[in-house]
Amino acid sequence: MPARLTVLSGPSGVGKGTVVAALRALVPQVWVSVSCTTRAPRPGETHGVEYHFLDRAEFGRLIEAGEMLEYDEHFGNLYGTMRRPVLEHLAAGVPTLLEIDLHGARQVRGSVPDARFVFLAPPSTDELVHRLARRGTESAQAVAARLARAEMELAAEAEFDDVVVNNDVEQAARDVAALVIAP
Ligand code: 5GP
Repeated sequence: MPARLTVLSGPSGVGKGTVVAALRALVPQVWVSVSCTTRAPRPGETHGVEYHFLDRAEFGRLIEAGEMLEYDEHFGNLYGTMRRPVLEHLAAGVPTLLEIDLHGARQVRGSVPDARFVFLAPPSTDELVHRLARRGTESAQAVAARLARAEMELAAEAEFDDVVVNNDVEQAARDVAALVIAP
């Protein structure tokens, strides 16, 4: 029987990556899709692990060939999910998780309407502002742009099937894991 696709989304800086890392340890039977991006790897990131790091021409070819399930542009870089590995895992009965932004989640809703859409929410807007400001890898301008986007993304919570509040990473990971593997 095909497995269910779960889409985890939420504002930038809410901690999606950290929650997904904890979830992997809890439910190793879940396959987490590896996105493609044209942004440069950050220190410690490895091609094929955090992302497939592609140049713009390669990414453009995948779009033209209809290979992207969804994609979006953030601050000059493209991010997207390849369709084929997702469909192959689902067909093989492997519960599959996408960690993507809101715009991408809306595209997936269009093509995989029976997916489960989970919104990861911050405990409060203030907490999200602190988290974004603490990220040391980007300029103040980049952080401000992320914050403006996050405010818009917070308003999208109502579009989702489920909301998990990221008060505590381990608890949030358990909550998302239960949704991912639910029959
Ligand atoms: P970062 O550069 O910090 O790794 O990610 C920037 C943003 O891109 C995050 O909000 C993340 O959720 C989003 N993102 C990562 N992978 C994908 C993807 O495959 N598709 C879309 N639409 N967004 C993604």
